[in-house]
Amino acid sequence: MVMHKCPICEQETAEFLPFGVSQRPNARCPKCGSLERHRMLWLFFEGQRYVNEIKNGNGRLIHFSPAQCLKDKFKATLGTKYLTADIIPGQDMAINMEDMHNLQDGLCRGIICSHVMEHIRDDAKAFSELYRILEPGGWACLVIQKDPAGYHGPDVIDRIRLAGFSVDVIDFREAMQNRGAVKYGLGSDLIHFCRKSKNG
Ligand SMILES: [Zn+2]
Repeated sequence: MVMHKCPICEQETAEFLPFGVSQRPNARCPKCGSLERHRMLWLFFEGQRYVNEIKNGNGRLIHFSPAQCLKDKFKATLGTKYLTADIIPGQDMAINMEDMHNLQDGLCRGIICSHVMEHIRDDAKAFSELYRILEPGGWACLVIQKDPAGYHGPDVIDRIRLAGFSVDVIDFREAMQNRGAVKYGLGSDLIHFCRKSKNG
């Protein structure tokens, strides 16, 4: 039997708990409540320099609609350089991503946005706004469900590029197949890692 482990809270378990309307099996960490996509994001950033760059530099990270388990971890790592936002009040900032006029250009170095774009009416506007509030050389990590009712497709990538970003689409579970994808209980969502050029 494969033993599972949550990379966020380090809890080991025979199986994660079922979760969701369909009660999909092996999804939710019994200790911190993380789901497949949260564990994926944490592992992704653990292997990258991006969050450390913010920790050791001057930039900020804005996390839209954060899950509590990730919020706790990023806050512990970045302190006041970490800000949260949601359209629903309750985070550091109440923001509609289609119109962020109260946020200045180049405000942050990094953006994390998981399972949000699928719910936005005019995502092209949101991509432009995300691009605007990033400093030159900044990045946005968008986690997008694999084909939720046809949302994901080449046209999403086109709209991200139209906003000015260069984008890499990463199938992280696939990339982690031999490095703990089953053990960590990762999902099939795609990471769209978007970069703003250094020239702005
Ligand atoms: Zn956990």
